[in-house]
Amino acid sequence: MATPAVGEDIESTCAKCGGLVWHVVVAKVGEKIAKVQCKRCHTSHRPRSTDPHMAGTAKVQKVRAAAGTSTPRAKREPAAPVLPDVEFDAAVPPRPYRASERFEVGQRVTHPTFGVGVVARSTPDGKIEVRFDAEMRTLAQARPASTLERRSVADAATFTGVSDAPQRNKG
Ligand SMILES: [Zn+2]
Repeated sequence: MATPAVGEDIESTCAKCGGLVWHVVVAKVGEKIAKVQCKRCHTSHRPRSTDPHMAGTAKVQKVRAAAGTSTPRAKREPAAPVLPDVEFDAAVPPRPYRASERFEVGQRVTHPTFGVGVVARSTPDGKIEVRFDAEMRTLAQARPASTLERRSVADAATFTGVSDAPQRNKG
């Protein structure tokens, strides 16, 4: 694949403008582009290894990088949070998350916003910590005490419902 001639336009990554912008080829060594000039800020620099036209010459760039000429840019990338590994039973399908329900550690849940997660642990104040793909989230869940209330409500329901309910045949 022939590279653009000197004076022709080419897309290159400009550090000053930040991103892929149009440049003009100002110098070539053989078929290899040696220098480009940004059409926006007029800065001259060597083409970047990430440029579309550099795809065929990636090997050369890699050798240079191995030689130690490239500077690490880890600072700009946010460090990935360390998330605990939570064991779960893959055979058990995830349950839709609801604050009104109780979830056990190891139970997978689907959340409308955060996606699929695994309950990592339950907190003393009755909440659950769920490990989602990229983050931990503390979610509310039904309190243990509510089962007491539920039972009394259920009892009341059966009480008032007795007159209407069809009688159960025994035996
Ligand atoms: Zn520029």
